[in-house]
Amino acid sequence: MPSRYMQPLRILIQFGYLGFIVWLGFSFYTFVQAVGTSADRSTLVRPDGIDAFLPISGLLGTASWIKGNGINLIHPAAVIVFITIVISSLLLRRSFCSWICPIATLSEISWKSGFRLFYRNWRLPSWPDVTLRGFKYLLMLFFIYSVFIAMSSEALLGFIQSDYHKIADVRLLNFFLHISPFALGVVLLLFVFSIALRNPFCRYMCPYGALLGLVATLSPVRVTRNTERCVSCGVCSQICPTYIDVMHTSSVSSPECIACWRCISHCRYNEALSMRAVQRVAIPGYIFAALVLLLFLGGTALGKISGNWHSTVSFEEYVRLLVK
Ligand code: SF4
Ligand code: SF4
Repeated sequence: MPSRYMQPLRILIQFGYLGFIVWLGFSFYTFVQAVGTSADRSTLVRPDGIDAFLPISGLLGTASWIKGNGINLIHPAAVIVFITIVISSLLLRRSFCSWICPIATLSEISWKSGFRLFYRNWRLPSWPDVTLRGFKYLLMLFFIYSVFIAMSSEALLGFIQSDYHKIADVRLLNFFLHISPFALGVVLLLFVFSIALRNPFCRYMCPYGALLGLVATLSPVRVTRNTERCVSCGVCSQICPTYIDVMHTSSVSSPECIACWRCISHCRYNEALSMRAVQRVAIPGYIFAALVLLLFLGGTALGKISGNWHSTVSFEEYVRLLVK
């Protein structure tokens, strides 16, 4: 498949997943609304995939699992999705960020709209950019320290089985349904920044992206430049949403690379850029796209087959915790 078709394919997958997420959110909203009112409880099904929005629960569950407590049965899908995404970063770099993540999809729509409006996106000067990028790593370290070091296995288990954690999904929903003026202001400010800059939330604030970026540095897969074919036109460096200077590198090792293939798609000169495993084996675009989907769907399927997907929080517990 010619690399110019990669961007339409990636965007199709992004929007497909965004649509799925909207459906998932609406199903969960319907479930929560019905908990206190429906007479026929047999029709109420909680969409377990909503746990994908609980990455901290996934991190807590993973730590608890590693410390010998078994999988987090309160929100097991959160653990499965978390581990799947970490493994996908190890194999296919931060492909989750540019192919699946709905926040990154909205962010990409924003900066592309900004580009259409102003014919450009801005970039922070070097020192604030580097300083702010460090912020997401600090957040990541804070979460990893808090969960893996500061909390004992008993404390992890206690939190996972707490009433607070049982309805963490509903708390998140309520956060958006009854958003405070302050939180709304922050979201709007981020939206404005996301029009001017490329992916500021992912670049400066997302601890998940920080973790995936560090894991991705171990990945055997990288964008690789054939220095003999390259005509040094600079398009790849201009087009990169994470501002990587692709033209001046032979292989992209940066943790910021989100494996979006934009540089490869826009390089029209003798296919000077390619996605390669261990710098040797070129990965065709359709294979990469198929692998991204297979990894993500495969992780979900494994979770379901192994019985680690459905939450053990019973309908009665939701009623007890939600209906005052
Ligand atoms: S777009 Fe292709 S030809 Fe142009 S600088 Fe980048 S790698 Fe070289
Ligand atoms: S280096 Fe290429 S694949 Fe990586 S983020 Fe930049 S444009 Fe996307």
